[in-house]
Amino acid sequence: MTGRALIVGAGIGGLTAALAIAKAGFEVAIFERTAVLEEFGAGLQLTPNATRILERLDALEAVQSRALAPRAICILRGRDGALLSRLPLESAQRRWGAPYLVIHRADLQRALVERVAQAPNITLTLGAEVGGVTSDESGVTIGVKRGAIGLRERGDFLIGADGLRSIIRERLGLGGRDEASFSGRVAFRAQVGAHSVAERLRETEVTLRLGTKTHLVHYPLREGAIVNLVAVIESGWRAKKGDDPWDGSADRASLARAFAHWAPQARALIDGAAEWRAWPLYDRPAIPSLASGRVALLGDAAHPMLPFLAQGAAQAIEDAGALADCLKASSDPSQALAAYSQRRAPRAARVQAEAKAQARFYHMSGPLALGRNLGMRMLGPDRLLRRFDWLYGA
Ligand SMILES: Cc1cc2nc3c(=O)[nH]c(=O)nc-3n(C[C@H](O)[C@H](O)[C@H](O)COP(=O)(O)OP(=O)(O)OC[C@H]3O[C@@H](n4cnc5c(N)ncnc54)[C@H](O)[C@@H]3O)c2cc1C
Repeated sequence: MTGRALIVGAGIGGLTAALAIAKAGFEVAIFERTAVLEEFGAGLQLTPNATRILERLDALEAVQSRALAPRAICILRGRDGALLSRLPLESAQRRWGAPYLVIHRADLQRALVERVAQAPNITLTLGAEVGGVTSDESGVTIGVKRGAIGLRERGDFLIGADGLRSIIRERLGLGGRDEASFSGRVAFRAQVGAHSVAERLRETEVTLRLGTKTHLVHYPLREGAIVNLVAVIESGWRAKKGDDPWDGSADRASLARAFAHWAPQARALIDGAAEWRAWPLYDRPAIPSLASGRVALLGDAAHPMLPFLAQGAAQAIEDAGALADCLKASSDPSQALAAYSQRRAPRAARVQAEAKAQARFYHMSGPLALGRNLGMRMLGPDRLLRRFDWLYGA
């Protein structure tokens, strides 16, 4: 099958989908509403289920050159920094067939944009906001606004990779844009210069510190020049409808309060970051189908998830890999998208559910936390790692 694919959104999902669909032989047009792909976001862990697909798309080398491969995941008790477990990642390649990486989101996006620019059959249009979508027997038409100019674009099928508040999802009748619900948790993200932190914190490792209703993840990025911090707290904050901005620095006091009784090393990280930005964490129930006719959803538009398994971008990348396989296997776009949905919906729903469960596991208190800590010590690193085989080895 050949033809023209339209993609809404040039996040990690849309860009990877473009590479995958172009590799399957299609012409691809991506429309992204922001005029500049900014230094937005922070660090991402890229797990082997995602890096395996990037390799298939000839994008792994570009990504790896900007990433670090952590040697281990260290799980510590928040209040005193006691080691609960150290999961070695040196064997990731052997165990799961692909590397485990950490990378700045902007660097990952840049690597993907570079690959997109090299592909003769992909065009990326920035500052292009997609509004309406209509679909008929022979194709899909979208309305695209570029400044004051409104255009129409036609393709054989459409991929909505337009994130949590997806307009494409709304048009498919799979829920309003503002229906994502606040999870009761807020992630604060910051970066500190590696020179300003203790040597132990510069190790090429992912460190996860667990406390009551609170956890902290940190790892180095950009050749070890910076340390990426993600602090998650439970909070009653609610967004007003359609109102995303949040003044992270204004709420530093509640962040400091949440970590007040933690080990000095962790507190130093919390206090040491000049600027924190906050991401209220949203959730949406899993949907049974990711496609309808010639339109399909991908990434956060399809299955937004809590970040506690570090899987949002990884699942978007998995979507892209599956989409390419299904497009290659069928000459009919609607059939290919239906097959894609069948393949991806159950797995994405499972990952969404497991990420939610992980949130409860991380934030346990009292006897439950004691049991969790004891359990991790008794299980040992190898058996703990085995619990991720279904996810990373797929
Ligand atoms: C605290 C935190 C930590 C995380 N850590 C990890 C991690 O370690 N590993 C991991 O895999 N994931 C992680 N994630 C999740 C990950 O960042 C997201 O799941 C992923 O980036 C989603 O990519 P996407 O392309 O689907 O959506 P987005 O990145 O939201 O991209 C959507 C794009 O569509 C564009 N768009 C929207 N509407 C329109 C329109 N109408 N017209 C044109 N363009 C439009 C937007 O401008 C945007 O560029 C984390 C998330 C958080 C909050």
